[in-house]
Amino acid sequence: MNSQPVSEKLRFLGRSLLPWVAPLCAVCGSAAIVAGVFEPDAPSAVKGLVVAGILLCAILWDAIQRLGFQKHNRAFFEIEGPLLWVVLLWAAVRAAGPQYGPHLTPFCAVLLGTVCALFQKPLIYLVIAVAAVLELSLAAIGRQSVQICAIHLAIYGAASAAQSIWRWWSDRRAFALAEKAEREKNLAVEDAAWDFGLKTSQMPALSDRPSLSSLNRLTCGMMTVDYISESFALQLQLVREALGLCSAVVLWRDAEGEKLNLRGFASERELCGGPYPLDRGVPATVMNGHREVAMAPVPRRFAGLPYYENCDHVGALLAVAIPEPSLTPLEEPRVAGVLCVDRVSPSAWTEQERRVLHLTAEKLCYDVEASQHWKQSDRDRIVSERFAAVLQELNATLDLESAAEVALKAVKTLAHADMAVLSLCEQNHHRVLRAMGLYEDRFQDLEFEGDEGLVGQAVALGQILPAADDYRGVQAIFSSEDRLPELRSLLIVPLKKAQGGVFGALTVASQTPGVCAKHQEILTLIADQVAVKIDLARAHEQIRLLATTDGLTGLANHRVFQQTFDQMLARAERRSDAQGRLAFILCDIDFFKKLNDNYGHPFGDLVLKGVSRTLAQAVRKVDLAARYGGEEFALLLEGSDRQGAMAMAERIRSSVEALNFEHETGIVKATLSLGVAAFPEDGLTKVELIEHGDQALYCAKHEGRNRVKSWAEVQETIPTEDQKAL
Ligand code: GH3
Ligand code: MG
Ligand code: MG
Repeated sequence: MNSQPVSEKLRFLGRSLLPWVAPLCAVCGSAAIVAGVFEPDAPSAVKGLVVAGILLCAILWDAIQRLGFQKHNRAFFEIEGPLLWVVLLWAAVRAAGPQYGPHLTPFCAVLLGTVCALFQKPLIYLVIAVAAVLELSLAAIGRQSVQICAIHLAIYGAASAAQSIWRWWSDRRAFALAEKAEREKNLAVEDAAWDFGLKTSQMPALSDRPSLSSLNRLTCGMMTVDYISESFALQLQLVREALGLCSAVVLWRDAEGEKLNLRGFASERELCGGPYPLDRGVPATVMNGHREVAMAPVPRRFAGLPYYENCDHVGALLAVAIPEPSLTPLEEPRVAGVLCVDRVSPSAWTEQERRVLHLTAEKLCYDVEASQHWKQSDRDRIVSERFAAVLQELNATLDLESAAEVALKAVKTLAHADMAVLSLCEQNHHRVLRAMGLYEDRFQDLEFEGDEGLVGQAVALGQILPAADDYRGVQAIFSSEDRLPELRSLLIVPLKKAQGGVFGALTVASQTPGVCAKHQEILTLIADQVAVKIDLARAHEQIRLLATTDGLTGLANHRVFQQTFDQMLARAERRSDAQGRLAFILCDIDFFKKLNDNYGHPFGDLVLKGVSRTLAQAVRKVDLAARYGGEEFALLLEGSDRQGAMAMAERIRSSVEALNFEHETGIVKATLSLGVAAFPEDGLTKVELIEHGDQALYCAKHEGRNRVKSWAEVQETIPTEDQKAL
């Protein structure tokens, strides 16, 4: 059983239907217009009056809700009003008949135009669409001629378009005006920032290339200027109230020192805005060396206060100097502005009043000084933040190349350089590790000797060059050929080792004059960090080399040979095609003991080095040449079969045979015996392959040395078990 009372159900139904009331009225009204209910020749006027009444009620209800802002239960709140107005107006046009109806057309145009001007875009289209549908429907069923319909549509379209264009234009104008006001405000703040010394021509060392507006914000800060203005206003108000003054005014010298600007006031009189001259009037007198000017009473027709149109009601005036705010103590105190006060009473200024004014002037100066401190620490913070970011990136790098890449990128973006080059130097031989930007291709991997260019000199002297950042392309930078007249700014920072000594240079250049000097601070910081990083990277590289290469020959050592053999074998096992092959060659210098005995160990070492060089040159990049031990060498040829390995071994043998080692007793020759074993045919494991390569080498030795033998050939000579049994 349903326990809900009927009244509750009806209320619920009413609440559900409520949002649809206005749109339904609009739809019914439109249908009635098209059906001819409002036509003057309709059979009964009652229907028309009823529909018009309903429409009017709906409009009234909508208006009441609109005024009460009760839109929470209205799904189509935004559009309902305009829709109802359109329908009612069109009903009125139809009811007015052919005689008076056309006179109402301008009202329709005005209504549509108003909707276009006041409402949002999608709503506008809907309202215009309803009007157009009404017009077209009336024409379709013959209630108005097609020509009239076309004329109406053209009028409404023109009115809507005109209103839309006007609205677009006024929006744009308002936006432009707001933008202009903002720009003017910014300029005023910028001027004040210059005057208060909150803006310098030097950019923060690590700033990105900023646009002018972001630069202003970065270096002066609207907040700082606002703070000063507020503080000035408060203090002037305080002094005015306390001393019963007419005006208390702060005039501040502009950055060029040519005039005075009004930078704060508290006054009951209207002031002329300035700027004011520095060569006449009371403020100028104070600026030009008088600490204080007092006048009581002020003579009639006095004209010494530039911010008043006339000094008629000035009874007494007092002006004191505001000291120049400075972050560092000034050698001799300077005057930055004037604190000027006046009152109607002509009585003389008391000692206490004068003291209050001098203290206020000091406090004003202190305010600006505090703001300068604030700005300075903000600038330092930006530098530290950016520098920390560079350090973080640098620290994330492991090898020389990526450290150089990160450093040069940082230099280019942070110091706005057009060219950045990192070069290393060893025993007066310079090599460019990385070049970036302008001339990148020309300087990458460039090698040059000595100190014919500025880089060489900077490294030799351990000093930043050129001393003054003014480069005209006359002096050579790297080698004597590379004068670069396009460059206008250059800085070469030597890279210094922690334990002393210079091992390279960071060269930065720009086509814009003065860029490098402006960023010298950060460039030096980066160069120092890069030096530490490169020094470390080189030490790591050294340790890695020591651990993996043989000190005498420079070939891979035995440990690397064993590891590489494992890796190559695993790769070959995985592959089933021709690449799944691997050849091992073991080489041994013939009669090396004798060579040592006859010519000495140092000469033996020389031969070892010579043979190693031949081996290193013979193998491809993918192969490995290692010192197996003593005067034995091992080669691993990836992807080579026995035939290929035999050919390579033979080439090596004849190359070594052709070598001439010079000794004081004459030319000494050396020969090599080589044993070859190939995977998979001569062995499947590392141990097996080494064993068979060794046996092949033994066979080569046995058969007279200076020759190549493969394990397959050895096998042919070894008697099988059956042959042994015979
Ligand atoms: P074979 O033709 O049979 O190989 O005769 P061999 O004299 O070369 O044979 P053996 O393996 O007995 O001689 C190797 C000699 O190589 C012994 C050792 O004094 C010498 N040797 C090993 N390492 C070095 C080195 O680093 N420098 C020099 N100068 N000699 C070395
Ligand atoms: Mg040997
Ligand atoms: Mg030997």
